[in-house]
Amino acid sequence: MNFAQIILPLAQPCYTFAVSHIPDLRVGEAVVVQFGKKSLYTGIVLSLHNDPPKSGKVKPVLKRLYDFPLLSDIQIRFWSWMAEYYISTIGEVMRVALPSLVKPHATTEELYKPYALPQERVLRLIAAPDSEAFAKLARRAPRRAELIVQLQEAGGELPRQLSTADAATISALVGAGIIEIFERDSAPQLLPITESALPVLSPEQNEALQAINRGLEARNVALLHGVTSSGKTEIYTHHIARALERGEDVLLLVPEISLTAQLVERMRRIFSDRVITYHSKLTATRRTQIYMDMLRAPSGNFIVGARSALFLPYRKLGLVIVDEEHDTSYKQSEPNPRYHGRDAAIMLANLHGAKAILGSATPSLESFNNAMAGKYAGVSLTTRYGGSLPPKIIISDTLRAVKRGERKSHFNKELLDRIADRLAAGEQIILFQNRRGYASYVECPRCGWTARCPHCNVTLSRHLKSGSLNCHYCGYSIPDPHFCPECKTSQIEAMGMGTERIEEQISQLFPTARVLRLDSDSAKSDSAYNHIISEFAAGNADILIGTQIVAKGLDFKDVTLIGILNADNLTNAPDFRAVERAWQMILQVAGRAGRRDRAGEVVVQTADPSHPVFSALSEHGYQHFASAQLKERQLFNYPPFCRLIRITLRHADAQQLANTASTLGQMLRSKFGSRVLGPVTPLIDRIRGELIVEIILKIETTTSFARARVTLTEQIDALRRDSDHKGVAIICNVDPM
Ligand code: ADP
Ligand code: ZN
Ligand code: ZN
Repeated sequence: MNFAQIILPLAQPCYTFAVSHIPDLRVGEAVVVQFGKKSLYTGIVLSLHNDPPKSGKVKPVLKRLYDFPLLSDIQIRFWSWMAEYYISTIGEVMRVALPSLVKPHATTEELYKPYALPQERVLRLIAAPDSEAFAKLARRAPRRAELIVQLQEAGGELPRQLSTADAATISALVGAGIIEIFERDSAPQLLPITESALPVLSPEQNEALQAINRGLEARNVALLHGVTSSGKTEIYTHHIARALERGEDVLLLVPEISLTAQLVERMRRIFSDRVITYHSKLTATRRTQIYMDMLRAPSGNFIVGARSALFLPYRKLGLVIVDEEHDTSYKQSEPNPRYHGRDAAIMLANLHGAKAILGSATPSLESFNNAMAGKYAGVSLTTRYGGSLPPKIIISDTLRAVKRGERKSHFNKELLDRIADRLAAGEQIILFQNRRGYASYVECPRCGWTARCPHCNVTLSRHLKSGSLNCHYCGYSIPDPHFCPECKTSQIEAMGMGTERIEEQISQLFPTARVLRLDSDSAKSDSAYNHIISEFAAGNADILIGTQIVAKGLDFKDVTLIGILNADNLTNAPDFRAVERAWQMILQVAGRAGRRDRAGEVVVQTADPSHPVFSALSEHGYQHFASAQLKERQLFNYPPFCRLIRITLRHADAQQLANTASTLGQMLRSKFGSRVLGPVTPLIDRIRGELIVEIILKIETTTSFARARVTLTEQIDALRRDSDHKGVAIICNVDPM
């Protein structure tokens, strides 16, 4: 073939390069090309052809990088799907998909350093002694004779590491011309499973396992709706073991790997070293090594990973499990491709002909709807393992507490009494507040001044520990002024509450209680996070105060009380998913209580106790709630009954932004009519000094979504070519969360 379309790790289309000088180049191979004035890039061959491009001169590919393709056909199809579905370039997919060391980029050939495969030293027998010489050797130097036997048994060659010979023995044999040493790319090996027994399933778990298997005979996806602590993880292990026995690759996808240390440890206990974790916090070297090893090793790998693990080179993927499938952190918020890890996992499984299991105690309405419609096999598990009782949920009316004089600081008496009670009994408590910091904003009671971020249109949050006011969007921070900088007369007041303030109030109300706080301030690093978790798990604290991090997959055996301090800021969030999220959040936090032998209690403080979300917290309420929510979504035409694309425009200049947004709005209206909403100014309309405007596209499920995406792309491309609109950033988010 004379020409190749090459994927470059850029937000650009693919370009054509000449390749006739590279023999037998294959699709998926990595090559070095020159692009731009002086840059060398690693590119991937997307396709090969003989048609010279109509215009421009074609540069040749400089060289091929490895003697094997970096991508399989399935990976190329997966990348192409992702670029097309999430309105990105395939180069942007390449940017997130390949570990950095396999796609070096440099300005000169000397600086361009491709990843070198790890080498291993190998011993080879070149001139075996005859039997007489051997007998002599065995007497005089038994170690040398032993190595010769080892090599003969291994068929003449043996990696140095696997031989037991010492250095002196080896160099003596090399000196005598009997063996030689050479280097080669080390061949990755599948680590053995010293499989300790799989957990024995309870009758209910076993039934769920069988139901999933039956469901997956006819369908490709199963949704396992199992209440917290029902043992979903144990059920997964049986599916994983079966797939590995068949020699298939397995991917267990988790929302945030750093929050799943307990899960990884449980998997290691069963599948030992076969478990490979993969996520963006690993070093570039480690990620590259895993990628290259998988590329060259046989199938049968077991990956536990975050969404970037979808891009590993699976040879024969047999099973994908998406744990906590409802978790919104599966969605990549930036940069492009803004893909949803769960949805992409289902696509990847399809491309491999693999099965997918989605698991959650609180399934997303999208997945619930798919199960109801028969697209997914729906399986539910309603009992906790070991018969532990579900937590008792108490809805505590904040307004009534105020009226009766039964509220202190941010706590209703119903909660305070229980905290005192549990502290006396030596049991543990978790308090959940969905805001970090001390106060969400500060205000002068006299002149009304509030501290705002100069770069983002938001109030600054007060942080006590650091003595500062911080912006949670851009990190802008100023020392806490204490006195109003406007009228200079009055002390500013903290408004709204964050975890730090709860911590302060608890210490005043219960001075002897030992308190820990878990939020993104106190757990900045994984080690800080692990430290807090293990301290609490070891019983070195009585109360854990935290943001939604405390809702994620933790298992504390002595927690018997959970307080949700303000459920209303969950339900009142300005988002059509707010109620669904509130329900998920409350149940996930509640799931941390009473996990073994003791039933737990959950006190939910709210000013709106008749809100339907609260009746859905019981198992029986869920079906009713989910159906009612879905009806409402249908009525107001929201997902899953339509598809959304959010188009965000950003620019520093208000006039330019308004002009471009209204032009794009008109262009889209001429194609999509009333399916276009906006341009509208979002709640937070300025971040890092840039103004923001949004346009929403609502596409009904009965028309072609693919065609809509093409039309949208054409319109945006046309706008970008217009010099009046240069410089305005336009970002598409398909299925925004
Ligand atoms: P889920 O993921 O559904 O919240 P887990 O898998 O974390 O539930 O199980 C909750 C607890 O019960 C864990 O401590 C787990 O080890 C234990 N458990 C569940 N099923 C079994 C089983 N079949 N054998 C032994 N322990 C189990
Ligand atoms: Zn800011
Ligand atoms: Zn003032």
